[in-house]
Amino acid sequence: MNPTDHNLSLKSVGRLQKLDLDSKGATAEMDGRASGTERMKSPAAIAARERCIIRFSEMASCCSWLKRWRKPARKVTLLMVGLDNAGKTATVRGIQGENPVNVAPTVGFSKVDLKRGKFQVTIFDLGGGKRIRGIWENYYSESHGVVFVVDSSDIQRIHETRATMAEVLGHPRIAGKPVLVLANKQDQEGALPEADIIESLSLEKLVNEQKCRCQLEPCSAVLGYGRTVDKSIRRGLKWLLSNIAEDYEAISERVQRDTAKQRAWEEQDRKERAERVRIIREERDRKEREEAEQEERRVEEKKEEEEGANMPSPIQPINSVVHEEDNKEMGKGENALQGGALDCRSKPEEEDVESTKSGPADQVKKKRRKLRLRWRNNRVEPLMV
Ligand code: GDP
Repeated sequence: MNPTDHNLSLKSVGRLQKLDLDSKGATAEMDGRASGTERMKSPAAIAARERCIIRFSEMASCCSWLKRWRKPARKVTLLMVGLDNAGKTATVRGIQGENPVNVAPTVGFSKVDLKRGKFQVTIFDLGGGKRIRGIWENYYSESHGVVFVVDSSDIQRIHETRATMAEVLGHPRIAGKPVLVLANKQDQEGALPEADIIESLSLEKLVNEQKCRCQLEPCSAVLGYGRTVDKSIRRGLKWLLSNIAEDYEAISERVQRDTAKQRAWEEQDRKERAERVRIIREERDRKEREEAEQEERRVEEKKEEEEGANMPSPIQPINSVVHEEDNKEMGKGENALQGGALDCRSKPEEEDVESTKSGPADQVKKKRRKLRLRWRNNRVEPLMV
């Protein structure tokens, strides 16, 4: 064993004694050996001392492993953003250990959980279509860091990429958080190299303005996955996590504060929306009620109209009134004739009216006239007093 190893081991022993983690017997043995070493310095004593040191060194590493094992994993949320088709899903797949070739474009978002060292990492892979970018900000508050994926081969959309990146990094809930920029699709012909990406995105200016720590990694998401994932992606992720770890307490506090604010805002928004829906529903119900009442009234009126149409109108043409009266009189006369009753009313004008009529009912009229004449002949004039 070389002297430097001893030094290291002795440091560990010293730390262990301070932490009071060693057993009493072991300490006594070591003390004995140590003093013995000074006294005797025999080969057997040196060997015993080394054995003892090795044992303590093993215990020390075991304890530190135990400490790490007992410490809960740090939860980290990362946001994977970038234009549609940049290679976000392919990158996440590769990190996850799944084949990134022929992935379907992300329509909404997908959530991936993975363990990286002492981190429990959640990655939100958000769809990058123009219309869906609006949902990104809902995830800003809970993110500890950002992975911005750029399609280095899509030179035509580099300005759109720049504008989108400026918007993301400039958001108050993102500014100041560490950002990893993956200049993806480097395997494609004509892909912009690192320096050109930095220039076309004005990356330096942007990250300085927003006080974001930033690392750019030129990479290709389809080169491999799992253990064979592009080294640049792995390096970038490591950089991002260690940067978050450096500032973990502060970032976590900010995440908690912003998330609480957002939840409160979402709750308020939910209440306001519920209130708006309630008002709209009430208005709709009121309208429906009014319409139903109107309809009911219309049906009733129609019914009344129909009933009215079936009933004889109080205002009748004079001819039909006269006709009716005539018939009544005739009936009475007949009754009177049959029953011998007397009716003193005379209706000279009826004959005039009848005489003015003409048409197909003439025969009926003639019969009636005959009857009336018969009735007149038989009637008795009232006594004049
Ligand atoms: P997203 O919309 O950002 O999630 O993009 P995808 O991950 O769905 O990738 C879009 C397309 O680009 C897919 O056909 C991928 O196979 C392809 N792609 C992703 N990364 C690379 C890469 O590094 N090189 C090449 N040549 N193609 C890639």
